[in-house]
Amino acid sequence: FVSAPGKNDLSKVAKMVERAFEGEPQQFEFWGLRKNGEIFPEFVRLNKGKYGGKDVVVAFSLDISEEKKNEELLRESEKRFRTVFQTSPDAISINELKSGRYLEINNQFTQLTGFARDEIVGKAIEPLGIWLSTEEQSEFVKKIEKNGEVRNYEAHFRIKSGEVRMGSLSARMVELDGRPCVISVTRDITEEKIINKQISQLASVIEQASEAVVITDIAGNIEYVNSAFERLTGYSRKEAIGKKPSILKSGKQDNEFYVNLWQTIKSGQIWHGVFINRKKNGNLFYEDATIFPVKDRFGKTINFAAVKRDITKERQLEGQLHQSQKLEAIGQLAGGVAHDFNNLLTAINGYSEMILMDIDEKNPVRGDVQEILKAGKRAADLTRQLLAFSRKQVIQPQILNINTVISDSLRMLRRLIGEDIQLEIILDETVSPIEADPGQIEQILVNLALNARDAIHEKAVRGRPKRIAIETANCFLNESYVQDHIGSHSGKHVLLTVSDSGAGMDKETASKAFEPFFTTKGVGKGTGLGLSTVYGIVKQNNGSIFAYSEPGEGTIFKIYWPCSGSELSDGEDVSNENSLEGNETLLIVEDEPEVRHFIQRGLERLGYKIFSAINGQKALDFVTQEKPQIDLLFTDVIMPQMDGKELSEKLQKIYPGLKVLFASGYTDNHIAHRGVLDPGVHLISKPYSVKSVVRNIRKLLDQEG
Ligand code: ADP
Ligand code: MG
Repeated sequence: FVSAPGKNDLSKVAKMVERAFEGEPQQFEFWGLRKNGEIFPEFVRLNKGKYGGKDVVVAFSLDISEEKKNEELLRESEKRFRTVFQTSPDAISINELKSGRYLEINNQFTQLTGFARDEIVGKAIEPLGIWLSTEEQSEFVKKIEKNGEVRNYEAHFRIKSGEVRMGSLSARMVELDGRPCVISVTRDITEEKIINKQISQLASVIEQASEAVVITDIAGNIEYVNSAFERLTGYSRKEAIGKKPSILKSGKQDNEFYVNLWQTIKSGQIWHGVFINRKKNGNLFYEDATIFPVKDRFGKTINFAAVKRDITKERQLEGQLHQSQKLEAIGQLAGGVAHDFNNLLTAINGYSEMILMDIDEKNPVRGDVQEILKAGKRAADLTRQLLAFSRKQVIQPQILNINTVISDSLRMLRRLIGEDIQLEIILDETVSPIEADPGQIEQILVNLALNARDAIHEKAVRGRPKRIAIETANCFLNESYVQDHIGSHSGKHVLLTVSDSGAGMDKETASKAFEPFFTTKGVGKGTGLGLSTVYGIVKQNNGSIFAYSEPGEGTIFKIYWPCSGSELSDGEDVSNENSLEGNETLLIVEDEPEVRHFIQRGLERLGYKIFSAINGQKALDFVTQEKPQIDLLFTDVIMPQMDGKELSEKLQKIYPGLKVLFASGYTDNHIAHRGVLDPGVHLISKPYSVKSVVRNIRKLLDQEG
């Protein structure tokens, strides 16, 4: 019990000894000194006692060096744990389970919530309102009570500023000082949530995009495909993943194509191009693709991605458009040529006719002239077909039932196709009226039937009867059909189908079939004008025509003819053919001298009195000077200076009610819209014969009024 020098406050010790004497026991810690000079802590207790009849103070001394050391260690470890607790990047709180009181929180908790330690510790949870949703809170507590712990529980919290944040809580029940408590660790996942939401939004956009998306690893193995890819190619996700995009290879691209593609994307660039690929079901399709490397934030390529679009339909439409533009251009050319031919043929045929009238039966040149006329008529026939193709044919449409025209043509059609081919007619009784020139419908039927016959003779589909079918039906073309078929119009149509069991056409032939002078038939057998005539007629009437054919499988032609809004009219107009002679006065205006001379001579021969002029202005000058009596004006439509229409209007002012017959090699908007005559306008198309001109003139002159 030796005091370590300078370590103990000896005056204090003396006071305690005094108190112990007075009967008050004392205890304190004291620094002792061992014999070897070592200082050690001891616990001292002073009690009053008796020794040898005298009052004494008894001191008990206990060496407490061990305890002191342990205490020190404990303090240090506690300090360490406190440091961990305070510097944890997650917010930690300890609550009493029963009362919910906060027993302790760490720095991160105050940072996260914005509350100071004093505002939290000792307070119950509820009044603080940190939990935004009472449902979440009570669910969390229930889970803790049931399982003793909760992991990654996501909940909404309101921090001091009023802002709402998302936290992920993990908590465990522990016993502290004999009371059940909850230790919670909360991680702020607000930003993570926002990013996750963006990622899932992006994912669903890609998933639902109409473009096919493929992602591969850098070796080209497919890691992801979206639903559009599945729809487009027919391969399911399961089938595609792990494979290479070469499952779509069609063999339509050469090796170089792929080498170029890989070089482009491997060098970090974007590749853009069009593939012809093959679907799972074997069908080929055009695919417009953009393929690019995907890089990580260090710039290293980690994936390749492709965004692809099926452009098969666009390609087809482009093809259709190209085709119809080509036919349009050819039509213009053909129309122009036909116009000039008409004038020449009018003269050739007209003069031939007149020679034949002049010379008697026994004349040796008669046969030669007849040959000229025959050839000239054939040329006129070809010209007419060219005009039909170029939509310059003059037509006189009427409201009609297409079935009637077909029925009326049946005998002729049967004769054309011959006995060995079966002709099947399937007419829809309810078919709507159309507006058409019956002659043109007949022309269509004849041309298609002849082609069908030729195709069957060439090679009939084996095992099937030799057969041509003509069908009619009502049909409605909707917008989506119109979008897929260039040149068609939406609305009610009558569908005329002509099909055969003949040789069929390959793609090459089918793409050219409508062009004038395209024929696969031998020299002298085909003119190549049949289908172009049909095409022109259909287009002139705002209809559309499509051919479907496979080699060896026969051919189907479908013609959509727009329905007429009007009702069917009764047949009429059977003009009684009177004598063609007459003595009326006619004014003929025609700029082609050959044509003018020939028609003048032809008419004079029949007794008519003729004034003629080479153009509108000359005719007008003549009339204003001479003021002759005129019964009818016969004028060409297209002439330099003043055209036929203008002339007729001027003359009708001078001669009210003057009758007018127009002549034209083709029509234009001067007197007819799209070749359809305005009511009350009379027109004869070139080349004409004297007979047909006179017949028309007589009809007009004999009309009342
Ligand atoms: P042409 O009959 O004088 O050859 P077209 O214009 O009528 O001229 O037809 C052009 C070409 O289209 C024909 O030569 C033929 O190759 C093909 N074609 C037309 N119709 C058919 C058909 N029904 N079946 C097979 N090929 C056809
Ligand atoms: Mg033909």
